[in-house]
Amino acid sequence: MIAVTDKTLCSGCGACAQICPRQCIIMKADSEGFLYPQADSGLCIECGRCEKVCHELHPYPQSSPLQVFAAINPDRQDHSSSGGVFSLLAERIIERGGVVFGARFDENWQVVIDWTDKQEGIQAFRGAKYVQASTGDSFSKAEQFLGSGREVLFSGTHCQIAALRHYLGKNYPKLLTVDCVCHGVPSPLVWDRYLDETVPSGRKSIEAIEFRNKESGWLNYSFRLKSKKGRSIDEIYTANPYMQAFLQNLSLRPSCHECRAKEGRSCADITLGDFWGVDEKRLPGVSHGTSLLLVNTPKGLQAIDFEHLLFDQARLEEAIPFNSGLKISQPVHPHRERFFAQLSHTTSLTALIRKELKPPFKQRFRLFKYRLKLLFYKLSPKARSIKR
Ligand SMILES: Cc1cc2nc3c(=O)[nH]c(=O)nc-3n(C[C@H](O)[C@H](O)[C@H](O)COP(=O)(O)OP(=O)(O)OC[C@H]3O[C@@H](n4cnc5c(N)ncnc54)[C@H](O)[C@@H]3O)c2cc1C
Repeated sequence: MIAVTDKTLCSGCGACAQICPRQCIIMKADSEGFLYPQADSGLCIECGRCEKVCHELHPYPQSSPLQVFAAINPDRQDHSSSGGVFSLLAERIIERGGVVFGARFDENWQVVIDWTDKQEGIQAFRGAKYVQASTGDSFSKAEQFLGSGREVLFSGTHCQIAALRHYLGKNYPKLLTVDCVCHGVPSPLVWDRYLDETVPSGRKSIEAIEFRNKESGWLNYSFRLKSKKGRSIDEIYTANPYMQAFLQNLSLRPSCHECRAKEGRSCADITLGDFWGVDEKRLPGVSHGTSLLLVNTPKGLQAIDFEHLLFDQARLEEAIPFNSGLKISQPVHPHRERFFAQLSHTTSLTALIRKELKPPFKQRFRLFKYRLKLLFYKLSPKARSIKR
């Protein structure tokens, strides 16, 4: 029977709950808002299937990608987080009568893994959602579709794809798996609190949410929440407290700090990420979003419709310096524990995030000194003569 004693060893994938023949495992949120399995020992028949499918209990094979590309899907670049490659893969699968699984918002604006077999259904999966997605019964649904002979594209984080593979327990020629380079997933509870605080008119008044709106540029992306009534939010990611808590590792799941899929341990056919730092001259329009496309298997290579992509062969080493998510798990923010301890009794999440992310006095003083020096330099005759 599955029992989580160390939270860094559970990604909350839910494979154990989905495989249990007695349905005696439920996924329950802890005080930080992350899902963990809870088994009813009275119902458990000790079949051991929950442990067999747990990806954390099995080694992740190491491999290196067969090929690496900088890639852009010009048709979908605008509406995707990076270069829009996911959309092209999904569209081709659906054209052939297949099914696509991806992350979308539910009616409460939480994130869930769901499926579609319609072209218009892909839209909901587009764009990265920086909240941990609940897998629900998606693994068993994917198994049913594969069993009936349909093609399936399953997309998710590294751990969700590893979990799916363990859940299925065998290779399906018609399964294509796509994972994303992953910084880590933030708490659904923090997201819930953020929405409660910023949308007092209620979830029903939300029209759209984008974590990575590119109108002011791919590098200067914005968090955008469109409300049907009242105030909408449009903040560059550096100014948005929710995004800062995510990017500065205040709100991530404990297992993300010990992610076992780093350094080429993806179990997916294709891995997608952002090709930060890509040379402007390399492809037309790179500065509007470029995908880092890692092809891990021959099946992955076969699935890519290169005719509809702008692409350039690359090396992994070119992307690593700009994308720490490829190589390492993010370190725990020193105030993470304190942040979650205060979460349930704080009246303002935004104020709590700002307080916990505020750099210590010494660091602020150093920054102040540096800015002052810079100002003096800019005003100096030497700098003015260079300008002229
Ligand atoms: C939580 C998270 C952290 C990420 N961290 C990094 C990083 O550190 N470095 C990096 O290079 N790239 C990271 N990415 C991936 C990147 O943001 C893009 O999603 C990816 O490059 C695909 O972009 P695209 O333009 O091809 O398609 P898009 O349309 O932007 O991608 C959407 C894809 O992401 C999946 N997805 C969206 N939200 C979630 C979610 N919450 N859980 C599971 N799957 C989801 C969808 O199912 C779909 O497959 C992260 C993505 C997520 C979701």
